[in-house]
Amino acid sequence: MSRVYNFSAGPAVLPEEVLKEAADEMLDYQGSGMSVMEMSHRSKVYDKIIKDAEADLRELMNIPDNYKVLFLQGGASQQFAMIPMNLMKNRVADYIVTGQWAKKAYQEAQKYGKANCIASSADKTFSYIPDCSDLPVSEDADYVYICENNTIYGTKFKELPNTKGKTLVADVSSCFLSEPVDVTKYGVIYGGVQKNIGPAGVVIVIIREDLITEDVLPGTPTMLTYKTHADADSLYNTPPCYGIYICGKVFKWLKKRGGLAAMKEYNEKKAAILYDYLDQSKMFHGTVEPASRSLMNVPFVTGDKDLDAKFVKEAEAAGLVNLKGHRTVGGMRASIYNAMPIEGVEALVAFMKKFEEENL
Ligand SMILES: *Cc1c(COP(=O)(O)O)cnc(C)c1O
Repeated sequence: MSRVYNFSAGPAVLPEEVLKEAADEMLDYQGSGMSVMEMSHRSKVYDKIIKDAEADLRELMNIPDNYKVLFLQGGASQQFAMIPMNLMKNRVADYIVTGQWAKKAYQEAQKYGKANCIASSADKTFSYIPDCSDLPVSEDADYVYICENNTIYGTKFKELPNTKGKTLVADVSSCFLSEPVDVTKYGVIYGGVQKNIGPAGVVIVIIREDLITEDVLPGTPTMLTYKTHADADSLYNTPPCYGIYICGKVFKWLKKRGGLAAMKEYNEKKAAILYDYLDQSKMFHGTVEPASRSLMNVPFVTGDKDLDAKFVKEAEAAGLVNLKGHRTVGGMRASIYNAMPIEGVEALVAFMKKFEEENL
């Protein structure tokens, strides 16, 4: 068996320890005589799995009691609709558009009410986070929406926007659990888990209780109403059982590694290796304004498409895979999530140096 260094933006690298543990438990989960995939979601054994996962997540993120944790399906994209359906009481919401995912959420919200784009970084191909300290937040906005880490463009909000008292809703798919967060600053924090936590098919929604109501837009399906899932502790219907089990294992792995403060330190160290190299390379250049750089997704280019393609191909042959940039931006992108070991980033930079020497 040989494992590569996988820089995929998502689905992405998971901790080897977690994968091995899951493999060991595949045929017989803790004496149950069956795989977690095969057991009832109403069983005692599974109830402990989902309850433990929630408890560990609450501990990791220090989630206050007046927030619910929901394990849902439909990916982050389903939330683009679910959020306005549940939260747009006045049918007005403000969006900060810092990339494709924010833009998709903004466009989806337009189906349900008046969605305003109150700030954008489209003028410079989303290579920065705009100043959000004094935005024209709408008087009657039900919420202000951000995509906190922009997976495709490699930018991250270093400071949350001043929402002028309005509820903040954040898509954290690609920075989930990468550093400590103050949950109380948000009304809703959500993300698909396939970037930094677990297998695709689970989306975690952390939502303040007062935002969970029966007063949703007319026609909102039962399955797309937060209250349905909150009242049933994420067991209204069959949840993505196996995915939640793996997420639970990743939560335990994170706790063992010292929690989110320790992860932040590790992630900063990893990212610095790559950014420091990019800042002095004569061949490779980062595409993001330094003040807005993500710790998780690092896009870079040579400025020459053929050279980019050559790099991606040769890197792959060297066991450094999935470095091709998003189809809409080209170039390269290294996603260096929690589970990417520092050795992976070191190997990437060593390879880039060698490539630079050989091709400059
Ligand atoms: C990947 C991603 C999405 C889309 O996730 P799906 O689960 O495929 O719907 C949304 N937002 C962000 C920030 C992402 O990185």
